[in-house]
Amino acid sequence: MRPLLLLLVLIAGVWLWRSRQGAADKSPPAKPEPRKPLDMVSCSRCGMHIPGDEIVIGKQGAYCSVDHLQQSES
Ligand SMILES: [Zn+2]
Repeated sequence: MRPLLLLLVLIAGVWLWRSRQGAADKSPPAKPEPRKPLDMVSCSRCGMHIPGDEIVIGKQGAYCSVDHLQQSES
């Protein structure tokens, strides 16, 4: 029964350590980083402005969708 006892001690130790950490951590949670304003990019085909993370990059520029990329570059 020794390994079981060891396991129990280990679990108790981890539990104690974790509860101590929780008590020590009284500082307010870190503020979520403010979202960066995204650059608006205009589609090379239709001129529509779209956020930088939604653009489709082609060889000749940025597009609002894959359709416009294909229409312009094929
Ligand atoms: Zn477009």
